[in-house]
Amino acid sequence: MVKKLLIDLIFPPKCMLCNEVISVGDKCENCRKKAEKYALSQYGRQIKHSCFKNLDKCISFYQYKGIIRDGLLYAKFKSCSAFVEEFLSYTDFDFESFFKENDIDVIVSVPFHKSKLYDSEYDLPQEMARKIAKSTGLGYNKNLVIKVKKTKNQHDLSLSERKINLKGAFSVKGDVKGKNIAVVDDIISTGYSLEEVAGTLKKSGASGVVGITFAYNNG
Ligand SMILES: [Zn+2]
Repeated sequence: MVKKLLIDLIFPPKCMLCNEVISVGDKCENCRKKAEKYALSQYGRQIKHSCFKNLDKCISFYQYKGIIRDGLLYAKFKSCSAFVEEFLSYTDFDFESFFKENDIDVIVSVPFHKSKLYDSEYDLPQEMARKIAKSTGLGYNKNLVIKVKKTKNQHDLSLSERKINLKGAFSVKGDVKGKNIAVVDDIISTGYSLEEVAGTLKKSGASGVVGITFAYNNG
């Protein structure tokens, strides 16, 4: 304990994102203020896309800009989900009520796609889903939806190519009949991957699929 205090005195704990010195166990006030700037309003949290046919609803918390984009890059680069966890806590979103309202049985994440943008193997959607599952007592099943097709990096493709790229990319391994499923992803842009996962789940008999995403990239 003394040793820890001494270390804190010599190397005071700093915010992982802005380097501001913070007290042990405290959250960074500087970042919390910046988070507010990019937070989506209660209404703005409902993401609507014309491609959503199987995805019953989708929520997101932040605009994919500024500190949010930097934080996600940092999380992937450092293989650390603390940023996402901290910024989710700023939103005061009641996941437990959300899951109850939507009668959710299990949480999954969009199967990992290695992105050239980050050049990282770190599966942030999975980490995010695990954290949410843990905080709500609901189960997270990492093997329920798997990726079965090698896809190209969505960023390198045109809008129409993106849809084709993901067709048949996922498969369900397990029984989802009559179940309501929450699918977690870090960023939503066109919504194609979440819709494709939702379609795959519904084809396998799932009755409801909702999406939970950290940030919304609307171009
Ligand atoms: Zn900070």
